[in-house]
Amino acid sequence: MPAMKPSTLRIGYRYRPNRLASEYDAIVIGSGMGGLTTAALLSELGKKVCVLEQHYTAGGYTHSYERNGYEWDVGVHYIGDVGAKTQTRRMFDFLSSGKLEWAPMDAEYDRFYIGDKVFNTRAGKQQFRDNLVRQFPEEETAIDSYMELLAKTGGALSAFGMGRAMKPWQQTLARPYLNFKIPSVFFRTTYDVLSELTDNQDLIAVICGQWGDMGLPPKQSTFMVHAMIARHYLYGGYYPVGGAWKIADTIIPKIQKSGGEVYTYARVEEIIVEGGEVRGVRMKDGHRIDCGCVISSAGVDNTFRHLLPTDVANKSGYTKKLPHVQPSFAHLGVYIGLKGTAEELGLPKTNFWIYPSNDYDAAVDAFVQDKNAPFPVVYISFPSAKDPDYLNRHPGTSTIEIVAPAPYAWFAKWQETTWGKRGDDYDAFKAALGERLMAHLYEKLPHLRDSVDYYEVSTPLSTNWFGGYHQGELYGLAHTSERMQQDWLRPKTRIPGLWLTGQDVLTCGVTGAMMAGMLTTMSLVGPRKMAPLMKQIYG
Ligand SMILES: Cc1cc2nc3c(=O)[nH]c(=O)nc-3n(C[C@H](O)[C@H](O)[C@H](O)COP(=O)(O)OP(=O)(O)OC[C@H]3O[C@@H](n4cnc5c(N)ncnc54)[C@H](O)[C@@H]3O)c2cc1C
Repeated sequence: MPAMKPSTLRIGYRYRPNRLASEYDAIVIGSGMGGLTTAALLSELGKKVCVLEQHYTAGGYTHSYERNGYEWDVGVHYIGDVGAKTQTRRMFDFLSSGKLEWAPMDAEYDRFYIGDKVFNTRAGKQQFRDNLVRQFPEEETAIDSYMELLAKTGGALSAFGMGRAMKPWQQTLARPYLNFKIPSVFFRTTYDVLSELTDNQDLIAVICGQWGDMGLPPKQSTFMVHAMIARHYLYGGYYPVGGAWKIADTIIPKIQKSGGEVYTYARVEEIIVEGGEVRGVRMKDGHRIDCGCVISSAGVDNTFRHLLPTDVANKSGYTKKLPHVQPSFAHLGVYIGLKGTAEELGLPKTNFWIYPSNDYDAAVDAFVQDKNAPFPVVYISFPSAKDPDYLNRHPGTSTIEIVAPAPYAWFAKWQETTWGKRGDDYDAFKAALGERLMAHLYEKLPHLRDSVDYYEVSTPLSTNWFGGYHQGELYGLAHTSERMQQDWLRPKTRIPGLWLTGQDVLTCGVTGAMMAGMLTTMSLVGPRKMAPLMKQIYG
């Protein structure tokens, strides 16, 4: 492999205490989609917001990096619901001042290899339904019932989100309405709900083929999160033109316009609480930034277990609540650079999902028990094929990304080591896992063997190092039924001046984190001040 050159693609302003303004209206910890959305909306309301990001570049899981002439995304492969003027699209347009553009993927945007069978999705509600019926003609009734369930959960998802933005007493008053809106299937497992519609395990597997998008197989996942993802991609997948990093790049100017800034290399060490109220944050270099409003987008585990003083977390009751939520699965990533363009190499604008069999839960269990068992899912994405601008930045080349689950525990023994210097045994373990994943790529596209110029592998320790996730969590908190029913996962915390945002408030996904940003802003400023902004965004 050629020697590594460092990445040059960095956005945000490098933190130095003397670069800070004398005061801010709010501090946001973390510059992922949740943090940036909250900061941008508050900025639009005239607030001066300081975003503190520990990584060398802004964007959280939406950042991209360059090495050896190639560019990869770390946490964005496709986004749904942006092909028309939907609520999601309007919010992206607003945050990016219309500068973020979207390129559609192929109509068959996801392809599932399940054992020796192959199934494609189809973009479009009717097309999706007809395509399923074509593949499972004897299951037409079950498929139509499934489509009805998806429709029913749509309105309930908004009610669920709004419930989280309410004050506890408002939620109590609204409880009968919320209970009425939320269907009985909401918090049941996906498999339970689907197996009442059909006993065709292949159909269930195809319907759950995107389980990797929220990190739990059907016997563990909640139907509401399954439905949210299925609805999100119902009209196909889209890719941000210019790469995932364009998301943060187009939002940051809105924060700067109000006098705010997004600082990188800015690790918050502690949320300062005095007299029972938040007073600011202490940085890793010891510098104190005073502010009575701190919004944490660094994840619930980070916030309550690592950033808040232990006595405050205990006294406010959060320590007792944490055992009700678990970290999501960790993952391996393979970042591949190829000589030759996507067109020359025939790379599709379709994601591949490769499964050993239609029993996803059994495959996960087997893998967790034995690392030599087949990967329960291997996901392959072709970002340069999806991005119409890629060749302007990296002519004559293309890229591929592979993602697969891997328990954090396999890597825990190296957690005290430093990135890039973890030792030969770690490198050998990582290389062997990387080779297994590359074999999946070559099995599907053998002609690529001669075109691969470079690849590197990330492990859960990379996620820990670059994203601050202590267990290498792929999606923050696991989306179990228990987690989805934790009412304390809401923007307003019990500690005056401390707010939460990001994927742990609602659900994972760039859109999930963005919607959490909207809810956090609404909780902070109240519905009266939010109403004109909502009108501006949604018309
Ligand atoms: C491999 C992978 C693929 C994915 N693919 C997709 C996809 O195709 N489509 C999709 O919609 N979603 C996808 N997701 C999920 C999506 O990227 C995330 O759910 C979403 O971006 C999370 O946003 P967030 O703001 O909540 O968190 P993050 O983006 O993780 O932001 C949190 C930020 O906080 C910072 N931070 C943590 N601790 C501190 C501290 N002490 N001080 C300062 N900063 C701190 C972190 O560095 C990080 O930047 C994927 C995720 C992964 C990992």
